[in-house]
Amino acid sequence: MHVKKQRLLTPGPTPLLPRALHAMMASDIHHRTQDFIQLYPRVLADLKEVYGTQNDVLITVSSGTGAMEAAVSNFFSEGDKVVVLSAGKFGERWADLAKAYRLNAVVLTAEYGQVVSPERVAQALSENPDAKGVFFQASETSTGAAHDVRAIGEIVKQTPALCIVDAITGLGTMPLDIDGWGLDLVIGGSQKAFMIPPGLAFISVSPKAWAQSETARLPRMYFDLKREKKMADKGESAWTPNVSHILALAEALAYIKQLGMAQLVENAQLLARATRAAAVEVGLELFASGSPSSSVTAIKAPAGMDSGEIVKAFRNQFGSIIANGQGTMKGKIFRIAHLGYFDFADLFAVVAELELILHQKGLPVTLGKGVAAVQRTYLEAQSGKQS
Ligand SMILES: *Cc1c(COP(=O)(O)O)cnc(C)c1O
Repeated sequence: MHVKKQRLLTPGPTPLLPRALHAMMASDIHHRTQDFIQLYPRVLADLKEVYGTQNDVLITVSSGTGAMEAAVSNFFSEGDKVVVLSAGKFGERWADLAKAYRLNAVVLTAEYGQVVSPERVAQALSENPDAKGVFFQASETSTGAAHDVRAIGEIVKQTPALCIVDAITGLGTMPLDIDGWGLDLVIGGSQKAFMIPPGLAFISVSPKAWAQSETARLPRMYFDLKREKKMADKGESAWTPNVSHILALAEALAYIKQLGMAQLVENAQLLARATRAAAVEVGLELFASGSPSSSVTAIKAPAGMDSGEIVKAFRNQFGSIIANGQGTMKGKIFRIAHLGYFDFADLFAVVAELELILHQKGLPVTLGKGVAAVQRTYLEAQSGKQS
C-alpha cells in the first residue's frame, strides 16, 4: 500500500529494456569519429534483419511522425492523387499530412474500432487508377484495431501505387512480410515494440519507392531520405543523431535478435489474447472486437463510468500508467498495452489491479476471474495447444 512502483504500461512509450537504458550512458562519443562509425552500420544491419527485408532501412531522428512526414515528402509531388485509410487518430494523421503537403487524398474512413476492408481499397484503386500511394496503419493504436496488411499489400502491389504502412505499433506485434506482400514504405518507432525511449523512427524503402522518389518534387530537407541513404552507406547519419538512442537501439536489437522477431510477435499475440479473455471475464466489453490488434487492447468503460476514473485509479492506487482513449474516445475506453518488453507478470498485475478497481467502484466482479483467464492462456501456450 505504501510502496508503489511506477510502471509505464502504455502503448508508447512502452516499458524500457534495462540493458538498453544503461547503454545510453555511454553516449560521450562524437558522431563523426570511428567510435560511432563502428556502431551505426551494425545498428542499421540489425534493424534490417529485424525488419526482415531486403529493402533499405533508414533511421530518422524524430518521433514516428517525422518518418511519416518523410514518407510523404520524399515520394510525391503537389497534387498527386493518393488513397488514405483512416480508422482512428493515426489514420487522421495521414490525412493531415496529405493535406499539409497538398496531395489530392481520397480518404476511406472506418468508424473508430472498425477497419477499412481490402475490398474497399481495391474498389478505390480501380476508381482512381492514377493513385500514386495508399497510406494506412498496420495497427491503429488509438482504437486497438488492425488492418489486413497482407491483403491490402497484395492489392496495392498490382498497381503503380506505393503501399505505405505506418507499422509503428505493427512491427513486433504482427507478422509483416515486407518483401513478399509488397510493402514499399514501412515505418517504425523507437518507443513502441523496440523497447527504448521516444526519439528515433525507422523507414524501409523499396526499389519501387526509390524509383518514384526520382520524380517527386515536394520540398524536403531535414528528412531527405536520399541524403540519409547516401550517408548511411558510408556508415554515418546525415545530421547529428541522438547518439544515446543509437546505443540503446543497438542493445534492444541484440535482445530482439536473440529472442527472435517471430517470438516477439508471438509474445504480443499471447498477451493480447489473454487480455481479451480477462476483459470478458471481468464483465467488460472489447472496443475493437472485429479485428483486434496485438499491440494494445481497447476496453470500454463500464456503463456510466468515465474511463479516466479507471486510468486514474491505476495510477493513484498502483503506480500503473495505462492509456485513456484519445480524442473523442477519451473517457470512453481505456487501453492495455502488450507490445515490446511486456510479459505475463505485467499482465497478471494489470488484470488483478483492474479487478480490484472495478470491485472498489461497486461493480460485480468476482476477484481472480480475470487473472485466471490470463493464467489459462499461459498454461495453454506452455503446453503448445493454443486455443
Ligand atoms: C505512436 C504512433 C505514431 C507516432 O507517434 P509519435 O508521437 O510521432 O511517435 C504513429 N502511428 C501510430 C499507429 C502510433 O502508434
